[in-house]
Amino acid sequence: MKPVIALIGRPNVGKSTLFNQFTRSRNALVADMPGLTRDRQYGDAKHENKSFIVIDTGGLGESDEGIDAYMAEQSRSAIQEADIVLFVVDARAGLLGSDQMIADELRRQNKPFFLVVNKIDGLHEEAAAAEFHRLGLSERMFCVAASHSRGLRQLLSDVLEPFPEDAEDAPVEETGIKIAIVGRPNVGKSTLVNRLLGEERVVVYDMPGTTRDSIYIPFERQGRKYTLIDTAGVRRRGKVNETVEKFSVIKTLQAIKDAHVVVVVVDAREGIVDQDLHMLGFALESGRAVVLAVNKWDGMTEYDRTMVKQAMQLRFDFIPYVKIHLISALHGTGVGDLYPSIHRAFESATLKINTHRLTQILQDAVEAHQPPLVGGRRIKLRYAHMGGQNPPVFVIHGNQTESVSKDYRRYLENVFRKVLKMQGTPIRIEFRTSD
Ligand code: GDP
Ligand code: GDP
Repeated sequence: MKPVIALIGRPNVGKSTLFNQFTRSRNALVADMPGLTRDRQYGDAKHENKSFIVIDTGGLGESDEGIDAYMAEQSRSAIQEADIVLFVVDARAGLLGSDQMIADELRRQNKPFFLVVNKIDGLHEEAAAAEFHRLGLSERMFCVAASHSRGLRQLLSDVLEPFPEDAEDAPVEETGIKIAIVGRPNVGKSTLVNRLLGEERVVVYDMPGTTRDSIYIPFERQGRKYTLIDTAGVRRRGKVNETVEKFSVIKTLQAIKDAHVVVVVVDAREGIVDQDLHMLGFALESGRAVVLAVNKWDGMTEYDRTMVKQAMQLRFDFIPYVKIHLISALHGTGVGDLYPSIHRAFESATLKINTHRLTQILQDAVEAHQPPLVGGRRIKLRYAHMGGQNPPVFVIHGNQTESVSKDYRRYLENVFRKVLKMQGTPIRIEFRTSD
């Protein structure tokens, strides 16, 4: 999980300037106007190899009452959402009563916080900082000039010190999209693998050894790299030593785990059987993107085709987002068309949407269709960020999120899918309550 940093402080101390520097976006409003009301903003940021989320709490009135209300309404929930709080003060304005109040409030909350003395540019640093020592936060004090980017790297290095670096992503540049071909015995996996690799303009590279595991076959097609994970063992060398059946459930499960996109092959002539659905279900539960290949479509009567289509409508209605291809691996019909769907599924699975955009989609969805009341209280969904790729994880922050119904979760899932035009990939929604 990415750490969350909240920016807290009086209006005009430079919070949104900091927000902009951290996120390097121009989304936040920067203006010389005190008391300018604006909504909380959420942004993605990264320092060295650590990603984090910044919340800018905006600012309200300048009076002590205003500050009180501000602390009550805006900042408290931002503080609760945060892992770290940056308490920003203005070196030019000096230490004000309202700063003191915010400091007192922060002490009451049980969150690590740091004092950021901003606008230090053109000032004598030590002299400017001196009066802020009265806040009793000297060992956690940083002097910066947000608008000049001064002191910010040091600030982030220190503040993010306890958090781990981002986990290494699989080097997709090396492997290309990893495609697993899975299915029950005799559905036509070997035939499909041969067909995919035998296509014109496909360059197959040398394949590694002969183990009981799936064979990984790197190849290139139209200038793009792929790795085929062949569970059928077509291209296995030294077949002589192979004693057992070519189908293995464990091999299939491992291939699914290791793939980016899983092509589930079913046999149109046999109809859709439970084992097909189990395999499909496992792939999706593992978070894999899926393309469905209904094979042996050749030479079937119109009547049989209609029957199979009806059966598919019934049995696949729980995965309307998975693309279905009617193919003949034997003749090659429709096989080339698998590639665009594989790409689409991979792109959907690895989509990166920034917090700002995701929050916008969430807010639009909530506006169009409010979550129901729970015990007279409305569930509040505040913002969303991505918690991972392949599968895409959408983390939604709010309160009473444990009461969000299955239906509402599904509604949000459908909205994300539709707005982001996602195909083939399962998506995960996680809720985090912050009150
Ligand atoms: P917020 O209300 O706390 O979000 O404050 P803003 O980020 O909107 O900044 C208020 C004003 O302070 C703007 O005019 C900024 O340009 C200015 N400002 C922000 N950071 C600095 C800084 O490091 N040095 C100076 N001199 N001005 C700054
Ligand atoms: P695997 O066990 O899933 O690897 O299946 P195979 O590729 O070995 O195919 C099993 C049988 O189905 C073989 O006799 C294939 O020739 C046949 N087969 C595979 N694909 C097709 C197809 O598209 N149409 C027809 N009619 N037969 C196919």
